[in-house]
Amino acid sequence: MNKVSFMVGSLYTGGIQLDTKVYYLNEENIDKIIIDKAASIIRTGGTVVFPTETVYGLGANALSSEAVSRIFTAKGRPSDNPLIVHVSSLDMLIYLIGEELSKTAQSLIDKFWPGPLTLIFKKSSRVPIEVTAGLETVAVRMPDNEAALRLIEASGLPIAAPSANLSGKPSPTMSEHVIADMSGRVDAILCGNQSRVGVESTVLDLSGDTPTILRPGGITYEDLTQIIGKVNIDPGLIDSDAVPKAPGMKYTHYAPKADMVIIKGEIEAVKNKIQQMVDINAQNNLLTGVLASEETKNSYKNCRVISLGRRSNTEEIASRIFAALREFDKTDVDIILAEAIEEKYIGMAVMNRMKKAAGFNIIEV
Ligand code: AMP
Ligand code: MG
Repeated sequence: MNKVSFMVGSLYTGGIQLDTKVYYLNEENIDKIIIDKAASIIRTGGTVVFPTETVYGLGANALSSEAVSRIFTAKGRPSDNPLIVHVSSLDMLIYLIGEELSKTAQSLIDKFWPGPLTLIFKKSSRVPIEVTAGLETVAVRMPDNEAALRLIEASGLPIAAPSANLSGKPSPTMSEHVIADMSGRVDAILCGNQSRVGVESTVLDLSGDTPTILRPGGITYEDLTQIIGKVNIDPGLIDSDAVPKAPGMKYTHYAPKADMVIIKGEIEAVKNKIQQMVDINAQNNLLTGVLASEETKNSYKNCRVISLGRRSNTEEIASRIFAALREFDKTDVDIILAEAIEEKYIGMAVMNRMKKAAGFNIIEV
């Protein structure tokens, strides 16, 4: 690596330069030797990127302050943004929280684990404060991915793992994304399939009186209310002036290099508005990227179009949103215009990520 790019890297991390081992995993037939090598890195305090069903995670031993500090350095993550701890068994969860599960927690776990639901519990003293950024609560989930579960099991340790992107960038859903962001910053990368869900887990706070969604994600509001009845949504998610309760939700996030604007309304009006804006941008010598759908992708001219999938299939859209934002980063677009989608089911999580990527820049038509 030449001197200049090393210095660019040092802006984020204080100049770490590790010899990153990259392993290619066949997720249909997982190689035990690779898992054992990665597990031994975790046990000795190192960092390993691994696939999960939501996005790729950047893991380290959740019981070691020193190991966890390496995650923050690798990502350039602010130290007041707590991490999610990944477990492979209920025993591991109970070890972390130091008490039996409530009825609510038990029924959510029965229904949604392993899966994209992170639960917030009061923590025990076994969890280092670096993991929880000083909070008295800890976020825990069991990922629905064989490689991730095998890695946790083989390590014999709970693994703290945020998304494996540089802080502020779109979360990685493909191995090429983590190689781009994390080469030289972690000890190993396990390259697997494209992440199935494609947006991060739902964060549900169980430490208060009423379960509260702090971050919408793979398990939807509708899924949760079906199992446990009343669920609140953190006002910080709805009102951009309120302070969100999940510390991480206050940060700029997922930002593509180009400025992004969301266009919201009835689809014909949205299409017209976007084309109008594309044409004005072109007159000003600005190239526009459009985040469109299968139904609308052929209606735009004079711009670069990426289709996220069918508007009727929000799960497909969720699985492609982060990769699309990264695709635009590889092009020379100056402005990205995104069609809003309906904020129902997983659409709530997709729109939450889009709004943050756009810095809450929304035009209603
Ligand atoms: P990431 O792992 O990068 O997907 O981010 C984890 C998210 O969970 C962030 O928004 C954190 O702020 C949130 N989180 C983690 N632990 C807690 C906690 N104890 N209380 C509230 N939010 C949390
Ligand atoms: Mg993240």
